[in-house]
Formats: sequence, structure tokens, C-alpha cells
Amino acid sequence: MSLLTVGSVAFDALETPFGKTDKIIGGAATFITLSASYFTKNNNLVAVVGGDFPQAMIDILVSHGVNTDGLQIVPEGKTFFWSGKYHNDMNSRDTLDVQLNVMADFDPVVPESYQNCQYLMLGNTAPAIQKMVIERMTNRPKLVMLDTMNFWMDSAMDDLKTVIKMVDLLTINDEEARQLSGDYSLRKAAKTIMAMGPKTLIIKKGEHGALLFQGDRLFFVPALPLENVFDPTGAGDTFAGGFIGHLAATDDISFENMKRALVYGSAMASFCVEKFGSERIQNLTQADIKARVQEFVQLAHFDM
Ligand code: AMP
Repeated sequence: MSLLTVGSVAFDALETPFGKTDKIIGGAATFITLSASYFTKNNNLVAVVGGDFPQAMIDILVSHGVNTDGLQIVPEGKTFFWSGKYHNDMNSRDTLDVQLNVMADFDPVVPESYQNCQYLMLGNTAPAIQKMVIERMTNRPKLVMLDTMNFWMDSAMDDLKTVIKMVDLLTINDEEARQLSGDYSLRKAAKTIMAMGPKTLIIKKGEHGALLFQGDRLFFVPALPLENVFDPTGAGDTFAGGFIGHLAATDDISFENMKRALVYGSAMASFCVEKFGSERIQNLTQADIKARVQEFVQLAHFDM
């Protein structure tokens, strides 16, 4: 089944305890579509970049089968820029700078050829843009999933709450779940957030894994302990791409299949953090993914 992703395509400047980068390519939709490309070949992007964005990166997306008809290029504009610094635990980070640039007045056009997409991934971008994309789909997709971050909670909470009401599945990290709900306990936070609209919620806990909530049902997948973690940027988006990519490929949104999707998402995220930016997830094979998924199965399986 076909997947439509909207979200930032960006330049990032990063600092981790292992090094520093100057303006590399990032953005939520970049990580999501690359990750999903290993699962579904019907992978469509809606985003905006400035004239400063390298054609070579667009070519990389296309070489992964991503349809970029919905990628707007504003020749005189500058691409969205984000800069962040990770703390020593690599689980928390500070945003040092955000420059919305062309994202500030992005009018997302959904091409006619995307209209039948059954899976819609609203990656991190302004909640008003996420809402416009839902409204511009002539048929409501089978599953609408949304990712966001604290930046939008601080700057556009009302818009965010409006769009959260319209989606089936929300994915956020633990601190954001606490901020959105006002509850410290993640179990309570999940109840509060699901009462805001989404029937399913994923709470990402970085190196401590991810929780899947649906009604009274709860499932957990640990993160794989890795020898080398260089850069966690994009791990959440890569997770989302693997998760929804698996659902779209199997066209099955049952809770049981979402459990498998949680493992695929976690496996993809574990690759992402091994190198800076999206480098690692540009160069994976199906055999790499299969072997990594088996490591997750081994890690969490036990008989009683
Ligand atoms: P993640 O590490 O999965 O939370 O995603 C990091 C990516 O999100 C980076 O590549 C950034 O370009 C992008 N990003 C950071 N802040 C924002 C924002 N406010 N809106 C949209 N994308 C953002």
C-alpha cells in the first residue's frame, strides 16, 4: 500500500560527545522516507526546501524509490535549519537554533497522484501544515500517524491539540508525553493523551526502548544496546519510517501487527544512531535489517 509522508527536509548542525558537524542534511521527512523505503516502494513525499538544498540529496531519495513530485523547491528561499547539542547521556538534547525559513509559509500541495495513499505519516513540522495535509486528502487514509516535538508544544500548542484530535496514532518521546499530558506517570500520560483523540500512542524512550499503547493494551520493545552510538538525530523519525513502512507493506493495522512494526521501527532506529545524519540508513541491505531484527528477537525472547 502507498505511503505519504510530510515533514521537514532540513539542514542540521549537530554536536554530540563524539563530534561536531556543520550543516549536514537532516529533517524528519528525510529520515522517515529513507527508512520506509526498505519496506514499501510506493513512498511519496510532501515537503519544501530552498534553492540552497543539494540536488544530490534529492537524487539519493529518488534512488531509494521516493516520489519527490510533492517536494517544493523555493529557488530564492533558504532550507529549514535546526541545530542541537546532545548531553553526555545522548538521550537528551538542547535545541540551539531553529530557523524555519521556507517552512514558515509552506503551502503543502498534495499531488493528484498521491490522493489514494492509504497511509499518511505526518512527520515533524508545523501542526498547521500537518492539518492542511489531512484536509487536502480527498479520501481519508486508512491510518494517519503523527510525530511532533516539544518545540511545537511550546510555540503552537493549540494548533497541535487540534491536529492530534484528527489522527489515529501519535508518536512522541517520554518527556514530550509528560509535557503534553501534565502527568508524570507514562501510563497515566498515555490515558490522558489517548483521550485527546488518537486511539494508539507510541512513547519513545530513546535508549530505553518504546512503549505501544492502545486502549488497555500495552506492549514494549527495548532498544538494542549498541557498541557505537554517534548521533541520535533522526532516530525517532527513522523509527516512525520503519513502523509505518511495515504497516503499509503488510496493509495490516491490527495491534498484533503493530507489535511487529514496533520491532522493525526499533531495528531501523538502531542503525540510524551508528553514524552521523542519515548516512547509515542510506546504505542498508535487506539482509542487514533481517539480521538486526533477529537480534531484537533474541534480546527480548524468553520461555517461562
Ligand atoms: P528526531 O531526532 O527523530 O527527533 O529528529 C531530528 C530531526 O528533526 C532533525 O533532522 C531536524 O532537522 C528535525 N527537526 C528539529 N526541529 C524541528 C522542528 N521544530 N520542526 C520540524 N523538524 C524539526
